[in-house]
Amino acid sequence: MDETGNRTGGRRVSRQMSHGLVVPAIVRVDGQDLHPARVEGTSDVFRAPMFELVKSRWVPDEEVNACALCGAKFNQLRRRHHCRQCGLIFCAKCCKEKIPLPQLACEEPERVCEQCRPVAEFVTKCRSPHLPFQLESAKGLAHATKDPKKVGKVVELGGVQALITLSIIDNVQIRRHVTAGLHALSTRPALHTMLAEAGAVKAVCRILTGVKNGEDETLCDGISALLIFCKSPELRGKALDDGALGPVLELCTHPSQAAALLALSTLAHIVDNPGTHDTIVSSPKRALPRILALTASDDEQMQEVALKILAHLSTGNDENKHRIVQEDFTSGRSLHKALNRKPKSEQVLCNAACLVANLATGPDDQGGLQELMVLSGDLLTKGPASSELLCHLTRALANFARFRQNSNRLMLYLPTVVNNCLRSAIPTVRTHGLRFLLSLLTVMPAQTTELLLKNGAEEVFKALGVIPGLMEAVMMPLLAEAPEKVKPL
Ligand SMILES: [Zn+2]
Ligand SMILES: [Zn+2]
Repeated sequence: MDETGNRTGGRRVSRQMSHGLVVPAIVRVDGQDLHPARVEGTSDVFRAPMFELVKSRWVPDEEVNACALCGAKFNQLRRRHHCRQCGLIFCAKCCKEKIPLPQLACEEPERVCEQCRPVAEFVTKCRSPHLPFQLESAKGLAHATKDPKKVGKVVELGGVQALITLSIIDNVQIRRHVTAGLHALSTRPALHTMLAEAGAVKAVCRILTGVKNGEDETLCDGISALLIFCKSPELRGKALDDGALGPVLELCTHPSQAAALLALSTLAHIVDNPGTHDTIVSSPKRALPRILALTASDDEQMQEVALKILAHLSTGNDENKHRIVQEDFTSGRSLHKALNRKPKSEQVLCNAACLVANLATGPDDQGGLQELMVLSGDLLTKGPASSELLCHLTRALANFARFRQNSNRLMLYLPTVVNNCLRSAIPTVRTHGLRFLLSLLTVMPAQTTELLLKNGAEEVFKALGVIPGLMEAVMMPLLAEAPEKVKPL
């Protein structure tokens, strides 16, 4: 390439990704404005590892009269030298090393400035066929991602892409460095779209599926990176398309507690996308039994996350709810244990109650849910501390009350519902309380009315009166049946 070689700049152009994500032309990391490296052709270097970077703007000689690094003025003796990597102009001292830059389609050694050299060298080495060079590349880049002085160059000179291409090498140490590097980069939200577009999720998934026993550090770094990606509603879809669900499900059952908890936490974000529910529930990896078992774990954090996932999974179709109830029955009724304990964190009970309330809408499982129904009623009778728990428990009873076969047992909780729910200051709790009563009134009118009269029937009517639109809704069909005004016969 000659000094005036074609420099296709255009770094300032943002690119639109398939998931509506835009990779910014400039990102701010540690107070520094960076121009993320761009790749010619497809930006997904996991698919196309022999990537070629778009060249930086070649600063014209006449624009500068001093070295960009040391500031020495140029003259007849001190000549200008371009760095092939960044395109800036330096004195000979600051731009003396020559290295091949295959990432810029330069196979012969080229002049590189002292600012670019350390990272550029590692990027060059990533495509060497020799393991020691590959290892040096992975290690050097991973360290640079944690060095505030070097992370900028990692982003600008293709270090991200280099790490991603190294992910396919089956070597314990390379795996460890690549995941450490990608995890460190993923902790900077400004880099998320760039990482996702370059194929970082695929790289991490590839590594996670290949790890062997004893690679716990790699495992935790990898899953932590996936957790960060799946946490972001913008990136989650792309992460799922890139295969995040498989390794996450696999790792939920990992013997390492730390890895399993990270995987579960990731799954708790993934289930925000209802499209994933069927896959998770019917996973051949037996994720569902494992998640259920964890709801009775001694680790409350684990319990809380497992229950949260199930509560999400139970918001969809009846079949998934049925699978959860069935699986719980065959694998030792963990939900019963979860609801029967007295956890330190009330969030555990909240998630459990939310799950039971969701399950209670399934017509096929009423028989199997009897004990959970009674436990919910008992908890409600004790008077839960948080309004969230009160809400879920009332909702659970209201949902159970829709099924005739539960009416007899639920009648026991009628005084509780009148006292704890209809008199509650929380509108949602009052509404669910009313739903409960109306269902019982429909099935067992005489018995319900009798109990109501003993337990403050006026509360019911007061509560009915404050539900917006309720009176109108009841009145409309009544008026349709028996109009206010009638013409004489
Ligand atoms: Zn200089
Ligand atoms: Zn440079």
